Amino acid sequence: MKILVVNCGSSSLKYQLIDMTNEEVLAKGLAERIGIEGSRIKHKSTGKEEVLIEQPMDDHKKAIGLVLEALVNENHGAIKSMDEISAVGHRVVHGGEKFSDSVIIGDEVLKTIDECSDIAPLHNPPNIMGIKACQELMPNTPMVAVFDTAFHQSMERSTYIYALPYELYEKYGIRRYGFHGTSHKYVSQKAADMLDKDLEGLKIVTCHLGNGASLSAVKNGKSIDTSMGFTPLEGLVMGTRSGDMDPAIISYIMEKENMSIDEVNNLLNKKSGVLGISGVSSDFRDIEDAASQGNERAQLALDKFKSRVKKYIGAYAAIMGGVDVIVFTAGLGENAPETRKSICKGLDFMGVEIDDDNNNVRGKETVISSSDSKVKVLLIPTNEELMIARDTKNLI
Ligand code: ADP
Repeated sequence: MKILVVNCGSSSLKYQLIDMTNEEVLAKGLAERIGIEGSRIKHKSTGKEEVLIEQPMDDHKKAIGLVLEALVNENHGAIKSMDEISAVGHRVVHGGEKFSDSVIIGDEVLKTIDECSDIAPLHNPPNIMGIKACQELMPNTPMVAVFDTAFHQSMERSTYIYALPYELYEKYGIRRYGFHGTSHKYVSQKAADMLDKDLEGLKIVTCHLGNGASLSAVKNGKSIDTSMGFTPLEGLVMGTRSGDMDPAIISYIMEKENMSIDEVNNLLNKKSGVLGISGVSSDFRDIEDAASQGNERAQLALDKFKSRVKKYIGAYAAIMGGVDVIVFTAGLGENAPETRKSICKGLDFMGVEIDDDNNNVRGKETVISSSDSKVKVLLIPTNEELMIARDTKNLI
């Protein structure tokens, strides 16, 4: 069985074709600049050269059409005919309170995803465009939606409710949802596999540290807390997002800087985080370089980032009544040994001990704690596409 996984952004579309008999990637690629001049697809079938397909793509339907052509292309394709695609799994960012698991997409489901656009205006509309484009081009192929929020629907009411007037929750659904759920679910399951333990009975803190970053407390295989909230702005210090702060700052800067709602939203989402503190970049590699050359604000940004992660690890150990496993994943979590080490520094009181040699690794499943560390610390490359493909396969 072959499953196409689609992740649609406003002007981009990432895809993977996965053979579920052995979970191998047959082809993958990225369509960029959809609806803008210079649109192109970078496509690579496993075992073949990467190709660059430069063609106008006015909309997502055109992009999907070209992706399907690339997949069946005689020279650079991976399959003979579109009929080989058994189903399409779509990443959908926000499932609100309606979806606590992946679902097969029908009219009713599509309508509900559309209703969630109100609280995810940047993400759900392009996800819907991708689904509709696929439905038009593959009318007989089942489609499945896999939500970023679904894994966190197991949070208790007292965890997801904000201390605001309760009517705001009832009227607008203002509550904590959490994101990166597919990644937190994948790495927590993988952690249990790697340690040859049952997920039931394990207390895991999963640290998804990329440009966007979040932690999750996973107890007995269920997310009981996560650091992102109503939107992905809450929680950790991120590449360009502020994460947690005193909400009174918002009205204060709006008044002082004469800012509109859009401007302040832009400031908190696009100009803050490690970029805001350092003034250097949102990319941790640039900030690490600057810090190593003595840039104090770059160092401050790194210190702030790490101390926030550590604070959340401590908090999650407290709410779970201990921790057995800490997992690092995503761009920074997988590739930055120094960052992992300094986050874990001083956690020996909890039984966390990193082994420097084990930790000197990038992008590979590894136990990075020492053999007598009470808490196992793991590096697990995330694989959201595979998780989406697995859910899709299970549902159809
Ligand atoms: P997202 O999917 O949220 O865009 P990723 O998970 O791809 O993010 O992570 C991207 C970030 O990972 C980059 O911005 C960079 O800061 C960090 N990163 C990637 N490789 C390295 C590395 N070798 N050292 C330090 N940071 C890295």
